[in-house]
This record gives sequence, C-alpha cells and structure tokens, in this order.
Amino acid sequence: MWHVVIIGAGQAGAACAVKLRALKFDGEITLIGDEPSPPYQRPPLSKAYLLGDIEQERLWLRSADFWSEHRINLRLDQPVLAIDTGARRVRFGDADLAYDELVLATGAVPRRLPAAVGGNLEGVFTVRTLSDVDRMRAEFVAGRRLVIIGGGYIGLEAAAVGRKLGLSVTVVEMAPRILQRVAASETADYFRRLHRDNDVQILEGTGVDRLLGETRVLAVKLSDGRELPADFVIAGIGITPCDALASAAGIMIEDGIRTNARGRTSAENVWAAGDCASFPLDGRQVRLESVGNAIDQAELVAANITGAEKDYVPRPWFWSDQYDCKLQIAGLNSGYDRTVVRAGQGVPTSIWYYASDRLLAVDAMNDPKAFMVGKRLIESGRTVDPDILADMATDLKSLMR
Ligand code: FAD
Repeated sequence: MWHVVIIGAGQAGAACAVKLRALKFDGEITLIGDEPSPPYQRPPLSKAYLLGDIEQERLWLRSADFWSEHRINLRLDQPVLAIDTGARRVRFGDADLAYDELVLATGAVPRRLPAAVGGNLEGVFTVRTLSDVDRMRAEFVAGRRLVIIGGGYIGLEAAAVGRKLGLSVTVVEMAPRILQRVAASETADYFRRLHRDNDVQILEGTGVDRLLGETRVLAVKLSDGRELPADFVIAGIGITPCDALASAAGIMIEDGIRTNARGRTSAENVWAAGDCASFPLDGRQVRLESVGNAIDQAELVAANITGAEKDYVPRPWFWSDQYDCKLQIAGLNSGYDRTVVRAGQGVPTSIWYYASDRLLAVDAMNDPKAFMVGKRLIESGRTVDPDILADMATDLKSLMR
C-alpha cells in the first residue's frame, strides 16, 4: 500500500494528514512527532492558554479518536533521527520505516540566548512548545518581575499576559524600536502606547550584555550598564527553521528546506511545508511563520501527492492578541515604501502598506472590516489610490465594488 510518512506532528503535519484523507487518499499515513502531546495549536500558548483562560484540551487540533478513526498512525514522542532518501526510509528510536512519499513538517525552534551570556540559567524560558509554557506558567505570579528580551509579537503577547496577571514587566528590544522586523513604525507606535498605558516598561535600542545569577537568573545586565532585577526571563528573539535532519540527508537548504512552487524539495518524493520550508515568490525563496501558511502549504502538498500538480499561491494573514486589542494582518509588507494610516478619534485603526502604488498589506487593530477589505483586495491583486484610502470619509466596503 502507498505509504505517506509525515515528520512533525504540528500544524502543518496534521493539516497534511487530514487533507490527504479528505482527498480520499486510501494508502497508509504515518504522522511522527517528537513531542508527547497530540497535534495542537501554538498561538494560544502566548495568549489565552498562558493566561489560564483555556484548558489544555482546547489546544488539540483534533479529538483523541480522530486519528485512529481516519487511519492515521500517530507516533508521538519519537524524534526522527535520520532520513535515507536513496532507500526511502526514515529512522526513529530503534525503528525504521519505509516511505513512498515523505513530508517534512518539522517547524522551527526558538533562538536561545547563548550559555556564555547566561542563557542556560534556571528561570530563562522560550515560548514554543506546550511543555515550555507548562513549565513557565508557575512563574506568572502577581508581583514578580518578568523581563522579556525581544519586542516581537510573542514577547509583546507574553508582556500583556504578565500585566493581566499583575506582574511587573519590562521588554528589552535591541533594535531601535519594537516590531522592527515585522511592522511599520506606526504599528509599533500603537503597541508601544498600548503597553505603556498598561504599565509595561519598554526599553528600545537596548541590548543585553548578560544574564546575572549563579544557578538561577537574578538580573539582566543591559548593554548600557544598567541592571534589571528579574524573577524570570523570557527570550522572544525569533526562530530558526528545523532543517538539520533534511540537511543531513543531503536535501537542499535555503532559509529552511527549499521547495519549489509545488512543495517538492530537492529530493525525489520528499516534500516540505510550514515554518521549516521556503518557497519561491517574486524571484526569491520566502519562508513564512504563521498558522495560515502552515495549513495552506500542507494542504497543497497533500493535493500534489494525490496528483493535483498545483502551484502554491500564498494568501498571508496573521493575528496577535494583546490586552483588548486584536491585531489582524493581511498580505506581506516586505518592500513597502509608503504607509497610509486610517484612524478613528485620533487613534490608528489600520495601517496600509504600499510599494509605489501597489497595495501590499494591512495591519488592522480592532478593525475587522479593514482586515477583511484589505485581505480581499490584496488576494485579488487589486489596489486602491492611497489618497482615497487615507480619506476617513471613504467607506471601506465601497472599495470592494
Ligand atoms: P510546528 O507547529 O512547530 O510543528 C512542527 C513539529 O515538528 C513540532 O512538534 C516539532 O517538535 C516536530 N519535529 C521537529 N523535528 C522533528 C523530528 N526530527 N522528528 C519528529 N518531530 C519533529 N501564527 C499565527 O498565524 N498567529 C499567531 O497568533 C501565532 N501565535 C504564535 C504563538 C506562539 C507562542 C508560537 C510558538 C507560534 C505562533 N504562531 C502564530 C506561529 C504558528 O504557530 C506556526 O507558524 C505554526 O505552528 C507552524 O506550523 P508547523 O507545523 O510548520 O510547525
């Protein structure tokens, strides 16, 4: 029987297995994960789950019975150690499994602060897995001092949870401003104000010299010589794609596992999807780190395994929850040279990104209409005169006609 083996039982791996069955693929499917939990969603890890608002079961992508009911062999807690693309076999534990098609959905790992600067002290955390967050949650006790290194979305979400739970929170960002890599200064200004209104101390343009403490972190020494006392530290300094397994198997790497537009890697019958994979877009390899991309790419791979021969057309979108603000992002802002701000009562509600006159992306803050209109315009390749968009008298819905 035709056997699809999927490495990585996360968002993309699960989506690929589910889609194969939805497409009536009747062969064998094995989904191998190195975590002990069944496939789960990560976004709540830095939001509702960290806050204690939802139970663990709400994270599962499917019910416990789903996998066996759909004849998907779920092998958990079993890291794949090697791939032999010539013999078409994967090795994990003391087992060895043959595949006809192999899907790499190994995700990404958080960057860690080096041990040489105290990154391995107790009380220093990253936020990627359920077990990361389960270990960290006991630290979130009112009155304690949390220092977050990195002012990206995950760091800012953890800061919001910390404040909601009554901690004293400082965010340290090395770049001149928070969200430097992912958003325009207007979006950063909005979130800086939101966090300061909630009593988060934000230090921008400030590096970390080292973490201080014998066995447990006690303070963060900043590049300007200041010392911030800390009961615990979260490093939210980005992720790197999990591509070592693929690389060791001789599969081509270019900002993650390189795929073509159909999701194929450089090795025959080997595909990749999700955070670990880069794909061609506008003449370069692009890697996206989002749920929407993980699902869409994995479903495309499933379709192509069953013979669809389709190219990937990304429809990027993302969200972030901080306090009472829901940020929704549509499109990709890379290469933007102009922004248009729409505001209500002096407060920005959406930031629109343009390259020349082409609409690229929108960040919408508690403005689902702006998100929806922007997403539809961007996905259909349409644009809107920036001056018309900037005019608050313009009804956004009228732009879709
Ligand atoms: P993952 O979900 O990471 O799954 C990969 C799996 O493969 C992991 O379980 C990994 O352990 C396993 N694996 C790796 N190597 C091996 C091996 N050798 N053998 C077996 N298994 C292996 N995205 C959004 O769009 N919106 C959000 O608000 C958002 N918030 C986020 C908040 C947090 C805290 C985090 C961590 C991520 C967030 N993301 C968000 C990103 C999103 O969760 C990821 O883009 C998505 O999970 C990627 O799916 P994936 O399947 O590629 O990787």
